[in-house]
Amino acid sequence: TLAIDVLPATANAAPPQVPAVVGAGLRVPLVTGERVGYANLDHAASAPCLEVVRDAVDELLPWYASVHRGAGFASQVCTRVYERARETLRGFVDARARDAVVFTRNTTDAFNLLARSLPKGTSVVVFDTEHHAALLPWRGPRVHRISTPATRAAAVSAVDAALAACQEGPRLLVVTGASNVTGEVFPVAELAAVARRHGARIALDAAQLAPHRRISMRELDVDYLALSGHKLYAPFGAGALVGRADWLRAAPPYLAGGGASKAVERQGAELGVVWNSGPQRHEAGSPNTVGVYALGVACAELAQRWDAVAEHERRLHARLRRGLATVPGSTELRLFTDTVAPADQVGTVSLVVDGFEPGWLAAALSAEHGIGVRDGAFCAHLATRGLIARTGVPARQALRVSLGLGTTVDHVDRLTRALRGLVTGGA
Ligand code: PLP
Repeated sequence: TLAIDVLPATANAAPPQVPAVVGAGLRVPLVTGERVGYANLDHAASAPCLEVVRDAVDELLPWYASVHRGAGFASQVCTRVYERARETLRGFVDARARDAVVFTRNTTDAFNLLARSLPKGTSVVVFDTEHHAALLPWRGPRVHRISTPATRAAAVSAVDAALAACQEGPRLLVVTGASNVTGEVFPVAELAAVARRHGARIALDAAQLAPHRRISMRELDVDYLALSGHKLYAPFGAGALVGRADWLRAAPPYLAGGGASKAVERQGAELGVVWNSGPQRHEAGSPNTVGVYALGVACAELAQRWDAVAEHERRLHARLRRGLATVPGSTELRLFTDTVAPADQVGTVSLVVDGFEPGWLAAALSAEHGIGVRDGAFCAHLATRGLIARTGVPARQALRVSLGLGTTVDHVDRLTRALRGLVTGGA
């Protein structure tokens, strides 16, 4: 007999629902390695899963069935939670009622979809220091890559000049909400106002901002937003592109296949295909229903807790920066010289330590102290290398420490002590 039992749908009295940007409280602790004393200080890469998300996924699994295409009850349950998650996402980023919410695999996928949906002749302006997910999808002679100046005001002026220099036709400015290298927050509303003056649209890379701050697409006046579930306390494999529906509706389907197509018939030797015009146009194939559901639940939880999240992170971030400043030979990487208030930065800090390989420090922190950080150039090679060069330290890589809801005071203090010990030879 088959030794693997499937989860019977009858195990649940009632099918699960995606909360509509409401929810019971955030249930910390998260699903972490806390019991073994592991300190995850790499939230910027992927955040641990919220317990409430895990529980919700457990509830959904017995109802596992195909969305949109099944008449069975479980299919209808899955379709409902999947579609409900769209509305949760819309609320989470305060999108306009007519914006499309397209589920993708992650932020990278979302920007590639947007890049494929640009009308012919669109000029794209992007800082060359962006994460590769926001830097690389745009191709062709109309892509203007500009360097990030040393102040926010200068960054706004640089974008103004770049948009003014674009040729006729549609224009798109691509900008990150918060740097994945330094955690610094970009002046998104000011940049959006400049984009508007030039008749340009603006796409926001919210991968690093969304886990830390309430975002309102309407208040910021941004046209598109991309995010990843795995940075938002949900599992891997689900993200979203939210934004103006017209370009997406006019673009060829991102993937050709079932779900994207409404009708297919023979037309002589060819096939005549009528493609869907809604978000399903770009979601061909069986979607990641469980991932999307989990993402919706995580967003709904966070939306209830922004004040608590901000306070938790502000305290730990200040402690982290104070602690790292005591590590001999260390220099924090900074994009902007006008970063002054805690609101200007989310809880991510990259640093170089003169005389020490970041890879060696990261390995020692892991092996000897049970602390997980990241070393490298963080998929933002131009940003990381440029910022390291400014410090005068002869390195090509950096060490990144990033915190979130899984972080405790003990984690931060352990990290500071361990780094000091490694650098001074005391541990
Ligand atoms: N944008 C930023 C600012 C990021 O930090 C990341 C991931 O680190 C991405 C985009 C890409 O996210 P994903 O790998 O989930 O596509």
